[in-house]
Amino acid sequence: MRILRTIAEVRGTVREARTAGQSVGLVPTMGAFHEGHLSLMRAARAQTGLVVVSLFVNPTQFAANEDLSTYPRDEARDAGLAEAEGVDILFAPEPFEIYPDGFATSIHVSGITDVLDGASRGAHHFDGVATVVTKLFGIVRPDVAYFGQKDAQQVLVVRRVVRDLDLDVRIEACPIVREPDGLAMSSRNVYLDADARAQATALNRALDAAAAVRRAGERDADGILSAAQAVLAEESLVPEYLELRDAETLHPVTRIERDALLLVAARVGAARLIDNHILKGDA
Ligand code: AMP
Repeated sequence: MRILRTIAEVRGTVREARTAGQSVGLVPTMGAFHEGHLSLMRAARAQTGLVVVSLFVNPTQFAANEDLSTYPRDEARDAGLAEAEGVDILFAPEPFEIYPDGFATSIHVSGITDVLDGASRGAHHFDGVATVVTKLFGIVRPDVAYFGQKDAQQVLVVRRVVRDLDLDVRIEACPIVREPDGLAMSSRNVYLDADARAQATALNRALDAAAAVRRAGERDADGILSAAQAVLAEESLVPEYLELRDAETLHPVTRIERDALLLVAARVGAARLIDNHILKGDA
């Protein structure tokens, strides 16, 4: 595995691979790798010829009051884990390589970014995501790019950019990888102390409770949401949001007729955590 810092080096390596007839897979990340990241790398390794993982803590997707300066960083550990997964290129640029002096362009996706994390974290968040992902697509020009369903709204934003700007890349959404007790893996889980770590399991337990109610035949949002809300309340967790939304448009759902997403965000101890389940329309 090679660690590359510059756009020019990545372009050169990708060009050689393409000339040799290889397809290119890209896994965009902010590092602090866990099994969730590794599952994306495995999917890329299984499906594409040259596997590029980007490691870039993207400053433009953090608000001033968020954890940019304290975000966990350990490039040497990450490089070891990526290499063990058979990754070919770890692209780990400095911020000025991505945002040189005079950088003036931002990609804004309207509509689906107004709600959920876009409302909680501010519009800049998905502008930052859309802009950096579009740049990574321009740098690497992957055939396939891999994202986690853990960040369900992010997947929809990226798909929208790809469709609206006619980018020639296939987006693969990979399932959420969880700890044995159900907590969705996240680089931010390291912020949890023992009490918060125990409390954090309530997010997935709440979504599970709602999914059980759905499987028992409930279609109304009120019934589904109150099952989840009850579990959060037992742990004294007040969510930033707990919402049922259409799995493609993110429009609010009052009654499930087709696939919906049940999404939750909450502050748990020192961490802000998100999770979601897909609730089937035909279950
Ligand atoms: P991040 O480094 O947090 O920006 O995440 C990089 C990619 O890994 C994103 O596409 C995330 O959705 C994905 N990811 C993060 N956590 C998980 C998880 N628990 N399961 C699956 N994918 C994940």
